[in-house]
Amino acid sequence: MRSAEQLDVLVVGMGFAGITAARVLADAQLRVHLIDRRDHIGGNAYDEFDAAGVRIHRYGPHIFHTNSDRVLAFLSRFTRWRPYEHRVLANIDGELLPIPINRTTINRLYGLALDEPGAAAFLERVRVPRDPVATSEDVVLNSVGRDLCDRFYRGYTRKHWGLDLSDLAAGVAARIPVRTNDDDRYFDDRHQCMPADGYAAMFARMLDHPLVSYETGVDFAAVRGACGERHLVYSGPIDEYFGHCFGPLPYRSLEFRHEHLPETSRFQPVGIINYPGADVPFTRIVEFKHLTGQAHAGTSILREFPRAEGEPYYPIPRPANETLFRRYQALAAECRDVTFVGRLAQYRYYNMDQVVGAALAAGSRIVERVGRR
Ligand code: FAD
Ligand code: UDP
Repeated sequence: MRSAEQLDVLVVGMGFAGITAARVLADAQLRVHLIDRRDHIGGNAYDEFDAAGVRIHRYGPHIFHTNSDRVLAFLSRFTRWRPYEHRVLANIDGELLPIPINRTTINRLYGLALDEPGAAAFLERVRVPRDPVATSEDVVLNSVGRDLCDRFYRGYTRKHWGLDLSDLAAGVAARIPVRTNDDDRYFDDRHQCMPADGYAAMFARMLDHPLVSYETGVDFAAVRGACGERHLVYSGPIDEYFGHCFGPLPYRSLEFRHEHLPETSRFQPVGIINYPGADVPFTRIVEFKHLTGQAHAGTSILREFPRAEGEPYYPIPRPANETLFRRYQALAAECRDVTFVGRLAQYRYYNMDQVVGAALAAGSRIVERVGRR
């Protein structure tokens, strides 16, 4: 690491939040040092080749999608893109149906032949109007009614979060659109693409700057207060920063079980198949070659098993947790020399592009405060 007096900003965490902020700061001529307690860069978006040579995402499938031209332009400095429109099927009692629910889903599930106005009228008939729309159950009942809710959402949500839909904030289920046409893409965003040679390569280029240095395998706890930085960017869990003084913030974890199938070139018809049923303990199966476009004689898949304990992957959006987060946030507001940014530090169910947007803004604010060199 550079000598203490030279260091302008120490960045804790080398995911999208930390690396984006670091690059903004270095571009403004500030000296930045990053640390991560994992043994690699990239945070949860890290990708790598498995032993068989298939590119996989160690911490679950990461598909880039955004409506922000600014975020896309920033990342495009560091990567070319491969167009990729993500599609997901749900395994409903053995039948594979499009999710988000669309006209095809309704027609195939109920043996109908509705046109688009017919599908809209169908949903209007089955929906259960809710006012206010406060929980994820309200969102789903209000748009697709009870039967589709129970088949596509309730079991999946129970498995993924360990909670009923009615215990989760509206924003969770509202991530998934509902359509009456045949559009079967998972996302609505204007830009949908994957970094052409992977996320890790993109992150390495973001870090390639004369004013940036970094170390992996270093926990903040080991260097806290010892780096002499003028400002700290922290992208780890906010409750951990404050020693869990108000008690732990709840996070949901996952166990990732990767598998390579040497004799199978294609395992499933789309990148992800969701399994809402209680008959299997995992929520979804990912086949990475769909996402990356890689040609390989075999294929690599991933099953995700939700866990209450383990690495914090998901903040759990519900009112009690938001109240607890606000208490930590009030402490954070007192720390003038620390910026909290990222999914864990802001306790927000952010996608990658939202984290980049937050880190771009945070970086600019820090430059204003610490001063350009
Ligand atoms: P992270 O990537 O979690 O990085 C934080 C880093 O901080 C970690 O590497 C951690 O090791 C380090 N750290 C924490 N505490 C310390 C400490 N004390 N000392 C040192 N280092 C520390 N988003 C999408 O847009 N599209 C998707 O398809 C998508 N799929 C996802 C699938 C899964 C299974 C998950 C879990 C998330 C997915 N996301 C997706 C969300 C995406 O992962 C996040 O938005 C993004 O990676 C968050 O970046 P971050 O930098 O805030 O956090
Ligand atoms: N969801 C569901 N059934 C599905 C897909 C999603 O019930 O087939 C719900 C579930 O509560 C999930 C949320 O919608 O957690 C958001 O889904 P998304 O695919 O955005 O989750 P992520 O990819 O972040 O795990």
